[in-house]
Amino acid sequence: MSFTLAIVGRPNVGKSTLFNRLVGKRLALVDDQPGVTRDLREGDAKLMDMRFTVIDTAGLEEVTDDSLQGRMRRLTERAVDMADICLFLVDGRVGITPSDETFADILRKKNARVILGVNKAEGKAGEAEALEAWSLGLGEPLRLSAEHGEGMDDLYYMLRPLA
Ligand code: GDP
Ligand code: MG
Repeated sequence: MSFTLAIVGRPNVGKSTLFNRLVGKRLALVDDQPGVTRDLREGDAKLMDMRFTVIDTAGLEEVTDDSLQGRMRRLTERAVDMADICLFLVDGRVGITPSDETFADILRKKNARVILGVNKAEGKAGEAEALEAWSLGLGEPLRLSAEHGEGMDDLYYMLRPLA
């Protein structure tokens, strides 16, 4: 038995950086399908002794503000439906934005099982932002650094019960 983790959140929070860290070179497939599926990347993830499927929600980076809301909502909902658990990333250098709150609402309405990750929190960065992230009402914020590999042990223990 394994599980599927969807990495969600607004553009530029570090979703793809974490995806790449978890997948390494084991990119399973990139669906060549129309619509939102095209913007979901799936890979075989490895975290210490644990293996699982990870989904990256991409393709939001180029959209205009007008289309962002609807498109990111559909894409995120699709990823949530495919996943057993979501890692919702916010930017530990920026703090909580209105866009983050929109994502939090989507996840709440979908009743998704969520781990809240405060990324770019290498060293002591992101400590205040992690406190601020409690306001999203999604439980304890997990400080991590996708780029530097910090917080991966905590992520491991959060995911372990699903493996
Ligand atoms: P995405 O749009 O959510 O997929 O974000 P990306 O993975 O493309 O990352 C956006 C930017 O944030 C890039 O410039 C990354 O190098 C940077 N970034 C990602 N993770 C970290 C991190 O843990 N720490 C820092 N300082 N920068 C990061
Ligand atoms: Mg990306």
